[in-house]
Amino acid sequence: MTRTRFAPSPTGRLHLGNARTALFSALLAVHEGGRFMLRAEDTDAARSSEEHFEGLLEDLRWLGLRWDEGPDVGGPNGPYRQRDRARIYADYSERLEKAGQAYPCFCTAEELASERAAALRKGEAPRYSGRCAALTPEQAARRLAAGEPASLRFRVPPGRTLTYTDIVRGEQQVDTDTLGDFVIRRSDGTAPFFFANALDDALMQVTHVLRGEDHLANTPRQLLLLGALELEAPRYGHLPLVVDEAGKPLSKRNASVGLAELRVKGWLPLAIANYLFRLGHSPEETGLLDWPGMARAFDTGRLGRASAHYDEAQLAHWQRLAIAGLDAEAAAAWSGVDFAPGDAFWALVRENISVRDDVAGWQKALGPEPPFDDGAVATLAGADPKLWAVAAELAGEGDFGLVASVLRERTGLGGRRLFKPLRAALTGRHDGPELARLWNWFSPAERMARIERAAAMAR
Ligand code: GLU
Repeated sequence: MTRTRFAPSPTGRLHLGNARTALFSALLAVHEGGRFMLRAEDTDAARSSEEHFEGLLEDLRWLGLRWDEGPDVGGPNGPYRQRDRARIYADYSERLEKAGQAYPCFCTAEELASERAAALRKGEAPRYSGRCAALTPEQAARRLAAGEPASLRFRVPPGRTLTYTDIVRGEQQVDTDTLGDFVIRRSDGTAPFFFANALDDALMQVTHVLRGEDHLANTPRQLLLLGALELEAPRYGHLPLVVDEAGKPLSKRNASVGLAELRVKGWLPLAIANYLFRLGHSPEETGLLDWPGMARAFDTGRLGRASAHYDEAQLAHWQRLAIAGLDAEAAAAWSGVDFAPGDAFWALVRENISVRDDVAGWQKALGPEPPFDDGAVATLAGADPKLWAVAAELAGEGDFGLVASVLRERTGLGGRRLFKPLRAALTGRHDGPELARLWNWFSPAERMARIERAAAMAR
């Protein structure tokens, strides 16, 4: 069974980049009829907080994600918070140590830093020299007994080529000699991120990991570790990062792309989900999809390798479609505008709304005293007065096709010279629903009042 997970670190709120990772991971599981899990990677006590943890859950739920297992809903593979799994990490690092696949390292931070600096000066990629690998078990035991602080390093098998297939990037090859022995237990006993992460994925039986490309360098180390522990590794897929206009990866520090912020501004979750669904993923479906539709159409074969640019104009496109798909009740709740009677108002304007304020704007435009915007004022000032004389005679006519043809015939006007002023007279603006529908929205008396007002505005 396909099992995927989203594994955020609660060090900030969710932004569009990690929301996309969560979305793709969830859709993959649903597409395959599998399970989706949530795991909090909160081992970094200094940077993680309960507030961020709660915030993450709230952001994910708001977006529309649901998980089968996780810290709040439980499940058979828990605990789902890494801070509650320290014992497990300690056990497994000990196993590696006992099997001779890991060794204590006494190098100090200063020694490591100067080795690193020396490598960089020579233009080489810094990697651990292997100094403590050569200590005999007796030497190491003596130093440990003397209370010298030690980390635990994994002994990377030398001279091997590690080959694996990335779900997004295809076949990858890594020469193990480029890795250097790496720390799997810090001198304070805690597990580094990639160790806990790999172990949890294997123990929670995760089959597919979709995550940001920034984790690519962890993968070979994670595969080696799981291989040494004889645990089954998931298949990894690395998504190109989502970048802003300047080409910089979106970050938790940039609130403008934070889900919480987008929610406050009135962006709809389904619009965001549909937008993210097309960010680095190219489905055939071009229309707005609901959750089951997205899950059906999600295809890892359609994940791309090019970096994905955040583009608010694209998000706005999905927002318009998502808004148009709201029913009247949901639209009233979303916009905070109380519209009556029934759905008729919403049915008329739903395709002309981009932001919440537009709803109140249309309510005014269709109400008794529509404000005129500058463009409408100019249009009405320049309109042919003949138009109003004929229009007034037709105010009682409900068949707009007939109204239009009589107006054309009797005024000699057509196209924009006819319809632009008529629209401006009815609504005080130039954009909006079809003119025929607008005409019929108003009663004959309301049409008459608007035509008279427009006539009075002519020069
Ligand atoms: N906690 C990691 C992150 O937030 C998860 C990486 C992964 O998905 O493997 O980036």
